[in-house]
Amino acid sequence: MPSAPPTILWFDKVGRSDIARVGGKNASLGEMVTKLKKRGVDVPTGFAVTADAYRRFLAANRLDARINAAIADFRSGHVSLEETGRNIRQAILGGAWPSPMAAEIKAAYRELGTRSGQRRPDVAVRSSATAEDLPDASFAGQQESFLNVAGDTALLDACRRCFASLYTDRAISYRDARGFEHCKVALSVGVQMMIRAGSGGSGVMFSIDTETGFEHVVLINAVWGLGENIVRGLVDPDEYVVFKPLVENRRLAPIIEKHTGGKAIKLIYANRDGQRTRNVPTSKAEREGYVLGDDDILQLARWAVAIERHYGMPMDMEWARDGDTGKLYIVQARPETVQSRRDQGLLKTYRIRKKGRRILTGLSVGDAVVTGVVRIVRDPHRLDSFPHGAVLVAENTDPDWVPLMKRASAVVTDHGGRTSHAAIVSREMGLPAVVGCSDATRLLHDDQEVTVSCAEGDEGFVYDGLASIEVHDIDLGRVPDTRTKVMLNMANPAAALQWWRLPADGIGLARMEFIINNVIKVHPMALVNFDTLTDEGAKAEIARLTQGFDDKRQYFVELLARGIAKIAASQYPNPVIVRMSDFKTNEYANLIGGREFEPREENPMLGFRGASRYYSDRYREGFALECAAMRRVREDMGFRNVVVMIPFCRTPEEADRVLKTMAAHGLKRGRNGLEVYVMCEIPSNVVLADQFAKRFDGFSIGSNDLTQLTLGVDRDSEALADLFDERHEAVTRTIRTVIDAAHAAGAKVGICGQAPSDYPDFARFLVECGIDSMSVSPDSFLSVKNTVAAAEAARRKKKKTKKSPATTKARKTKARRR
Ligand code: PEP
Ligand code: MG
Repeated sequence: MPSAPPTILWFDKVGRSDIARVGGKNASLGEMVTKLKKRGVDVPTGFAVTADAYRRFLAANRLDARINAAIADFRSGHVSLEETGRNIRQAILGGAWPSPMAAEIKAAYRELGTRSGQRRPDVAVRSSATAEDLPDASFAGQQESFLNVAGDTALLDACRRCFASLYTDRAISYRDARGFEHCKVALSVGVQMMIRAGSGGSGVMFSIDTETGFEHVVLINAVWGLGENIVRGLVDPDEYVVFKPLVENRRLAPIIEKHTGGKAIKLIYANRDGQRTRNVPTSKAEREGYVLGDDDILQLARWAVAIERHYGMPMDMEWARDGDTGKLYIVQARPETVQSRRDQGLLKTYRIRKKGRRILTGLSVGDAVVTGVVRIVRDPHRLDSFPHGAVLVAENTDPDWVPLMKRASAVVTDHGGRTSHAAIVSREMGLPAVVGCSDATRLLHDDQEVTVSCAEGDEGFVYDGLASIEVHDIDLGRVPDTRTKVMLNMANPAAALQWWRLPADGIGLARMEFIINNVIKVHPMALVNFDTLTDEGAKAEIARLTQGFDDKRQYFVELLARGIAKIAASQYPNPVIVRMSDFKTNEYANLIGGREFEPREENPMLGFRGASRYYSDRYREGFALECAAMRRVREDMGFRNVVVMIPFCRTPEEADRVLKTMAAHGLKRGRNGLEVYVMCEIPSNVVLADQFAKRFDGFSIGSNDLTQLTLGVDRDSEALADLFDERHEAVTRTIRTVIDAAHAAGAKVGICGQAPSDYPDFARFLVECGIDSMSVSPDSFLSVKNTVAAAEAARRKKKKTKKSPATTKARKTKARRR
């Protein structure tokens, strides 16, 4: 006689193919316990009460017929959804456990106690439905879970409640709408050792960037306490991003983003009867600090890599950290569903023309821009009053909001991170969403016309008014190959990952001063001299920004390093040329605390800028911080693809002083493969190209400054705008000269000024000169690539014609015949 199907199955006896027996969640927990433990991935132990046990429970209590009848009544329209759900749930909750089944569950619970060395272990009791891996992942988790359950009676009660939760109103209407046979779906229960996350932390993790689909990062969200608040969008979590290709080298710490969220509340276990969890406010230290330390972040990221590798696809995971032991655990893993299904060959780009005042900033979800009319909603059940295509503005959302979201053109919320319900569902629906704006419901008003932009990097914005939007599709399958390298100019780390799909040859110019402006905002010398700053306003602002940093200099070094690393990651392992700061004194003075350190100059363009600052007493300590950040990126994080570039270097003697200063700060050209480039943007760089070539690995032509200084035209002067012309023969001859001179000296030469992005004829001219690389703005990449490919083909043809006299002769004969 075949043995009866088991009531319980231990996690170490199930795997991913067991969804029919133990549901999606348990199957994946089992898979990780059996296959990934040896890779060091910790999953709390436990067992599943099988789907078959659920069916036998229904049969023993003659519930199938009652459920079918209740559903039939509901379908005939005689009974409301609410009443149907309530009746079925009550019937299940009133069911009695067949004694052998109850005995088996109790025995397994005892065994769990023996294994964990506790007589009455606390367990998490979690629903795991056999139809959990439905395509629309946002509907997963409709069934209930119970935390902190202890003792036989409480356990059996919690299991029965999980069974009943297969018939929540939402689950019934969802299955009904999609034509699922209710009786075919079964519910298995996972009984798992409790992680004391109430006093620890928890969160969500993806092995892919959820917005851009960049597959080389792990994105981690973290809150204090239990994780439920994240998905419900009640808290703004911390966010960390780790670069996968370098994370397995344990000497490196490639954390390219670390952001503290508001984390105003935390969900903890309640000890009072009848209440299992409750939200409490967080302390100031908790709000300002990171939930995870670097070691924990790296460990989770390594696990994400191992899990993804095992499953062979990008994954969406949940983790928890035990507050008592500090140990980390993975508590769930399922395939990521949005980015992995996206058309990889197409890149849609949006450009906003004439945007209005920026009203709100939050986290951007998706990459689109839309315009619409605001509707602030507090009660999601008032569907009829929500106009189709309106911008839905809410404090946060949960599954009850989905019908409204289906009508919306964009979603804006006060609270929530990238893994909040609002973000997850918007992403799946392809709606742009700006989440965690803090006060959207207060600052916006009904019927207000707005533009919602998620096309500007990590941050999303809401602008006043209806802007006009340009949309372009780039077919990545049609980008031609070129001999001339085409690289990207990148300014803002927040937008760097947006362009990873472009088949660029690296980053040709990352202007450090832009990164400082975008992410640091403070003058480096004001951080060095914080204690003696006289500007009290600046001092207060710096104190606020540098909260959590014992040493103010570290604020600069860490943020700059992460900003550079994010840009370096987007094109790794291709070269990423990072130029040391080139603010002019008037621009430096505008940084927080900057005025005390910058001289007032009549002509900042020709003043204290570029290389001259680095060895001067006025800025030496600031430059030391820039170098420290570069070392952090290359040596501690492992981005050896980062090349250093020196701007505005007036003479070879100045070059020597800068290189010596850099070496004193640990950045020695040639050591650990360090390459150092110099901008070619002053006529002296051209005239003495042979001497500069001896000191640097390559040149990058700064056509903006070179034009200014060749023609003597202030590049910022509107009055002289007509005279500023990179295509003037005076400039093009200069450029041709330096390309030839660099090549004669065996040095590489590229260009990173604006001209080739704007003028196809200029790009053609550069190809004719045999330039090695062009660095262009990302939105002009495709057109430049096409121009370069055509110019290279023409050049080849010309060369061939020149080389082959026979062909020339034949052509002449042909011409004569004509
Ligand atoms: C240039 O001068 O062409 C250049 C790329 O540098 P910047 O525009 O930052 O001066
Ligand atoms: Mg320049």
